[in-house]
Amino acid sequence: MQVEVVFPDVPTAPLQVRMSRTSPGRYALHEFSKNVYDVVVTDGAGRPLSPMRPNLHQWDVAGHDGTVRVRYRIFGDRTDGTYLGVDATHAHINMPAALMWARGLDRRPAQVTFERPAGTSWNVATQLFPTDNSMVFTAPNLQFLFDSPAEFGPGVLETFAAPMSDGDSRPAPTIRVAIHHAGTAADVAPFVDGVRRIVEQARRVFGEYPAFENGTYTFLADYLPWASGDGMEHRNSTVLTSRGALADSRIDLLGTVSHEFIHAWNVERIRPRTLEPFNFEDANVSGELWLAEGVTSYYDDLLMTRAGLIELPALLSDLTAVVSQVTQSPATQYRSAEDMSRMAPFVDAASWIDRTNWPNTFISYYVYGAALGVGLDFSIREKTGNVKSLDDVMRAMWQRHGKVGGREVGYVDAPYTAADVRDTIAEVSGDAAFAADLMRRFVQGHEVMDYSRLLTQAGLAMRSRFPGRASLGVLQTDQSAGALRVSGPTRIGSAAYLAGIDVDDVIKAVDTQAIGTAEQLDAALKTFRPGDRVTVTFLRRGRSVKAEVPLDQDPHIDLVTLESTGGTLSGAHKAFRTSWLAGK
Ligand SMILES: [Zn+2]
Repeated sequence: MQVEVVFPDVPTAPLQVRMSRTSPGRYALHEFSKNVYDVVVTDGAGRPLSPMRPNLHQWDVAGHDGTVRVRYRIFGDRTDGTYLGVDATHAHINMPAALMWARGLDRRPAQVTFERPAGTSWNVATQLFPTDNSMVFTAPNLQFLFDSPAEFGPGVLETFAAPMSDGDSRPAPTIRVAIHHAGTAADVAPFVDGVRRIVEQARRVFGEYPAFENGTYTFLADYLPWASGDGMEHRNSTVLTSRGALADSRIDLLGTVSHEFIHAWNVERIRPRTLEPFNFEDANVSGELWLAEGVTSYYDDLLMTRAGLIELPALLSDLTAVVSQVTQSPATQYRSAEDMSRMAPFVDAASWIDRTNWPNTFISYYVYGAALGVGLDFSIREKTGNVKSLDDVMRAMWQRHGKVGGREVGYVDAPYTAADVRDTIAEVSGDAAFAADLMRRFVQGHEVMDYSRLLTQAGLAMRSRFPGRASLGVLQTDQSAGALRVSGPTRIGSAAYLAGIDVDDVIKAVDTQAIGTAEQLDAALKTFRPGDRVTVTFLRRGRSVKAEVPLDQDPHIDLVTLESTGGTLSGAHKAFRTSWLAGK
């Protein structure tokens, strides 16, 4: 892509022009300058200037006449929420991955002009402010500009008025669904209907829509065989990318719609202080991602259920995944939910070549936070006799921290801290000690909630998937040429760990049964019971090792309904489920 960035009215000091290292909504460093080449810098009169390069990301431009014009080309071939994807079918533009900016000028408005490639009739879908010219847009400042991705291509655009609550006479926001896909026109309507239902259920949680700038929220969907799966939230829009097609992946795609639209409140406007304003020069570290991302993940499935798009068994299978991780991982001993949140720059689309011990020391803040979401929701319901819920906390957070907005577009004037979360739970539950206890033990501490007890309220039970089945514990393996290699760290406290087995060891035998494949290991373990002592033989760096160890109970659990186990729901169970799951 050919880019020209013009900075007018520049102070006489050298202008520090940069490529971003981050992208709003992502937490890892990305080094977007790596794809920039053929850089030509001139002043207002067209005189060539020779910028200094003080670091990887920066061009210092001295000797200009008050105007600095930077022309460059940039390569990008990834269609997702973070990078630049330019090909024959479209230009999918994430602004921080594409545009240079200048230090000290970030409060200035910007104008963006798109030029169609010859022979195309592409249009632009974006949250940028429109002008009379359909190729020209504006942004009030750098924060908003870099928060405004654009899909420049041949996609279709569907528009509807957001469903309003009864008696709300305010103008309904316009919801735009811009879709670039490889399916048929008939695939679009059922998807857009699902989007409408999610939009409505999200509003019912928070009580009202945010005041979207320009009165419009835009879904930017690229459902293409050459896209990379992603969802990325912004103030008034979201990028949705997937290889899945509308025809056969509609519910999965709507799951991401649900997640990202909740972010229009939770993280875009109900914003942690640690992320405000967003830093384009260094990693953005936040201890509150368990709430900003994890609780959003809890709600995405919940809203899908309330919208009638999935049913209770599908919701339970998602909850099973998060509750089993949090209740079984040794990582909770070492890092709290806040600590996990602060790991985001290392795991959020980051890459490395050295090994980590994360199976033992890290749980995604999406997972930890989703488990806290259901745990907090059920704790508040338990405390208040199902009169109050996490919905009330989110609505109160919206009133205190989100709705007030910012004096400047793209900024949030009342971002929250962990203490604000505690105080809001205290206000909703009417019990400050209860709120402080929840935060101290389960969010900032190392305790795991009693999910078994909490879930009983909804007529749900936690139970072993394979009762009586013996196991070495959660074990990652791969196999080749008759050798079963352990491919990840063994879980602290598991039978495999207590036997001294570690990554790269090759399991050779359980007692007298020779092992060469995962199937053979499973078959061997099935001949024992949990608690039986066995001798495991394994190869460690070429040397044979034997260890005797008691076997574990298989760790898999399921969350199941009382009725599926032959039980009968009480009136209280039914009332709880209606309050929790029914469309509002
Ligand atoms: Zn998210």
